[in-house]
Amino acid sequence: MNNHTNNHDLIIVGGGLAGLTAGVRAAELGLRPIVLEQGDGVDYPCNSRQSGGILHIGFHDPFRPAQELVDLMTRLTDGEARPELVGALANNGARLISWLQQKGARFMRFNQQEGYRWCMAPPRALRAGSDWKDRGPDQFLRSLAQQLVDLGGTLQLRTRVTGLHVENGACIGVKAESEGQDISWFASHCLLADGGFQSNQALFEEHIGPNFDAAFQRGARTGLGAGMKMAVAAGAALVGTNRFYGHVLCRDALHNDQVWPYPEVDAIATSGLVIDGTGLRIVDEGRTGVYLANALAGFPAGTSFHAIFDQAIWDGPGTSARIPANPLLERAGGTVLRAGTLEALAEMIGAPAAALRETVDGYNAAIESGSLDRLAVPRSQKITPHKIAQGPFMAIPILPGITYTMGGIAIDAQAQVLDTTGKPIPGLLAAGATTGGLEGGRDAVYIGGLIKAGAFALVAAERAASLQNKTPAPTPSAAIPAPAKQGLARFPILNATLRYGKPVAAALGLLIAVLTILIAWPSLGLLAIVAAAAFGAVATIAVLAFVELIQMITELLISN
Ligand SMILES: Cc1cc2nc3c(=O)[nH]c(=O)nc-3n(C[C@H](O)[C@H](O)[C@H](O)COP(=O)(O)OP(=O)(O)OC[C@H]3O[C@@H](n4cnc5c(N)ncnc54)[C@H](O)[C@@H]3O)c2cc1C
Repeated sequence: MNNHTNNHDLIIVGGGLAGLTAGVRAAELGLRPIVLEQGDGVDYPCNSRQSGGILHIGFHDPFRPAQELVDLMTRLTDGEARPELVGALANNGARLISWLQQKGARFMRFNQQEGYRWCMAPPRALRAGSDWKDRGPDQFLRSLAQQLVDLGGTLQLRTRVTGLHVENGACIGVKAESEGQDISWFASHCLLADGGFQSNQALFEEHIGPNFDAAFQRGARTGLGAGMKMAVAAGAALVGTNRFYGHVLCRDALHNDQVWPYPEVDAIATSGLVIDGTGLRIVDEGRTGVYLANALAGFPAGTSFHAIFDQAIWDGPGTSARIPANPLLERAGGTVLRAGTLEALAEMIGAPAAALRETVDGYNAAIESGSLDRLAVPRSQKITPHKIAQGPFMAIPILPGITYTMGGIAIDAQAQVLDTTGKPIPGLLAAGATTGGLEGGRDAVYIGGLIKAGAFALVAAERAASLQNKTPAPTPSAAIPAPAKQGLARFPILNATLRYGKPVAAALGLLIAVLTILIAWPSLGLLAIVAAAAFGAVATIAVLAFVELIQMITELLISN
């Protein structure tokens, strides 16, 4: 065994957004960090790289006032999110975005919804299947890895951390396998940032449900729970480990790589109903897509599920998602069944026709009479239920997809790992999807994987630096700068067009009207006034339309 001692003061396990953010921040603060990453190559797999790159807090803008964000996260998770973590994210989410911008991350607005304001550019294409190569998160992670090295840090690839060195209750280093060798590294602080336990069968079956194969892995499949196991061995507490962030996918994902990780089938399944092979409803569809994925993952592997809906749902909610199932699923070869009657549809999916008819009729009647909560499997209305009324009747074979586990290692607001009595374990920090305590609640609410990873990584690096006397402890309230001047500020003419376009349009219309009167009065008399009004209005509308066009283009294409 080789021992590498005293060369580093922060050992980071995992090189996703959490690990690399912590590494670069630590190096900036004067520490000598080393990131140990099991993957290989400049684009080693991790969920951060393969993500959609949207930074949000519960699909709200992290630049909202901190108290609003605290209230939001508390409400969304039914009070389950730990107050100290909620406060830390509210205070550091916006700061993370500003910091990422300083490190060269480019953001653009993905669409008009508030939660999509901060999308790493360039965004993934609006098509089905995997599409991460050279997209914003991939480009930025590669840049962050380079910046780590440029700042004197180390990125050690092909190195799988297998355990911690713990002495007198404090973490003092890690054990790893690196290219066939067992190696130990020692430092005063270790940060676990290994990305969750979603791909570890034993941990999944211990914490989430008895059937690992029931849930399809819709991420990089690198989250094997190593950090969680090491932390527990060192005395750490776990929190909220029974839920995951995921989506409902078309079952063809099992053999067709074009239909995952997108499109999700959530909007269709939660607007219509979900049956098993007997033709009966089995879950409450009306909560959220993430809840539905969790609920379906509780059934034995191989259970057949179908989302049942009609053309109106397909044309409505089916088109609503960011990467919508209608029309992208069929284009990618996914199964969408159609039949003129429910009986014919039942035959296509292999369910008893009478049972499907009874299920749909009962569901429709319950919507009409307002008695959805009295169905054999009560149906919530957080998501509006739609009647399945008019053919063609449709079905998609579905299965639950798991992205990352919501629960994990318990940490405090400074990303210090907590033991089962609630005290920090000296020397041990954790950030990102390997941690728990921020997401969940009755509907398994997703607060945001990237922002959780990045914000707690910043805090962790700052805590390690502060404990090593490299910098004073951070004061979050003083540390939320406005977003760096990017976006429109870089385009002064466009900026001025948007700012002054409307008054200019009005002034121009007036000017044209006056000129028309002056020029046309001698020949047209009173008719000149009519002509002036018409020309003035046309000029004003034309300029306003131009300004709106510029506004639309800039909102969609120009980074914030
Ligand atoms: C398809 C998809 C889309 C997503 N879209 C979004 C989105 O738009 N917005 C959002 O907020 N979140 C999104 N997420 C979730 C988000 O990507 C994750 O929550 C976040 O990236 C987690 O970051 P992390 O650094 O904790 O983990 P990861 O990025 O998974 O990094 C963990 C790293 O640790 C390494 N590792 C694991 N075990 C070891 C070990 N024993 N030794 C050494 N290294 C190890 C892994 O190889 C990996 O590189 C998405 C995820 C997926 C899969």
